[in-house]
Amino acid sequence: VTGLEAIKRFRVGTDVVEKSIEFLRTAGKMGYEGLVLWVGELQEATAVVTMPFVPKQFPMRSEAGIGIYIDADTLYEMNVWLHRNRLRLLAQVHSHGEHAYHSDTDNSFSIVTTVGALSIVVPHFAKNGFALESCAVYRLHLAGWMELSRIQARQLIMVT
Ligand SMILES: [Zn+2]
Repeated sequence: VTGLEAIKRFRVGTDVVEKSIEFLRTAGKMGYEGLVLWVGELQEATAVVTMPFVPKQFPMRSEAGIGIYIDADTLYEMNVWLHRNRLRLLAQVHSHGEHAYHSDTDNSFSIVTTVGALSIVVPHFAKNGFALESCAVYRLHLAGWMELSRIQARQLIMVT
């Protein structure tokens, strides 16, 4: 399995975006962060997101704040399912109650671990929908997650 570093563009349909936002909002109404994975296939230098995948997740709320926990069995089953369906994990999208940024926890416990893949953080529990301008977008490099500028994000992610 090769990485995604050669990918020049991520294409995602509005239906995938809407379903993702709907889930993040529902979690947010209960006061929890939510996580949606974007899966799909590669077409040369374009990664095409074909569906949102919501893994079984346990919202956590502690003195340290809120977060999301996904157990090892869920991750294993997901990887088997992806492999069987010839799908790739392209991006993780999760919500924050307030500002969009990668927290230390986000850096250390990413579900997406493929170089070149994306991580998008949606602020305010996705109440205001998905505007790339309001989200924080990161791409995984060998050295770790690097935040993209607004312009870089807009050039890389195409919502169609
Ligand atoms: Zn986070």
